[in-house]
Amino acid sequence: AIPVITIDGPTASGKGTVAHRVADRLGFHYLDSGALYRLTALSALRHATPINDEHALAKLAAGLPCSFAGEHVYLGKEDVSHAIRAEDVGNTASRIAALPAVRHALVKLQLGFRKPPGLVADGRDMGTVIFPSAQLKVFLTASVQARAERRYKQLIDKGFAANMAGLLQDLTERDARDANRAIAPLKPAEDACLLDTSEMNADEAVEQVLQWYAA
Ligand code: C5P
Repeated sequence: AIPVITIDGPTASGKGTVAHRVADRLGFHYLDSGALYRLTALSALRHATPINDEHALAKLAAGLPCSFAGEHVYLGKEDVSHAIRAEDVGNTASRIAALPAVRHALVKLQLGFRKPPGLVADGRDMGTVIFPSAQLKVFLTASVQARAERRYKQLIDKGFAANMAGLLQDLTERDARDANRAIAPLKPAEDACLLDTSEMNADEAVEQVLQWYAA
């Protein structure tokens, strides 16, 4: 079987950076599943699709004209790598991610990323729902404070405005929404390895994941 490593965890836990580097080190493909929810959210915002119109949103998700090249994400021909990182897009993404038809519409697209020589998939339900037979499942966590600081730095680095108090509240709300939703709630798979990165940098986290994979 084509090997899969899943890396799930809450917002700004460092999943993206760690998953990306692990994929590079192993020469594996990389799936940023959050980007698919963000792309759906961006399309919805642009089409002014109401975020409770499950049917219309699922249609948008199923027909997403998206493509990935390195760190770049495209919607049609437009490079939306920057646009999908905005906080309002992330927030909308987390709301529409609670809709079963939207999640369902993105399943096939996600499974398609499993190609030789292997895949590192990052998200909330990669190990629990999308790739339950993954060779290695990692659940990354970090304290709310550490995550808010990371997200703050990320946003400032990308040229977005940010304030810590707002981010802390936002992260807490988003985590609660992800953890408490009826479908694919955020939780570690039963056979997941837990990694708390509050006091760890990305390099150390990458080494730990590679060590688990090699073991
Ligand atoms: O990881 P990221 O912050 O980019 O994801 C945006 C939102 O998409 C998350 O807040 C979460 O609600 C949703 N998501 C999800 N399942 C995934 C990946 C992301 O529900 N596998």
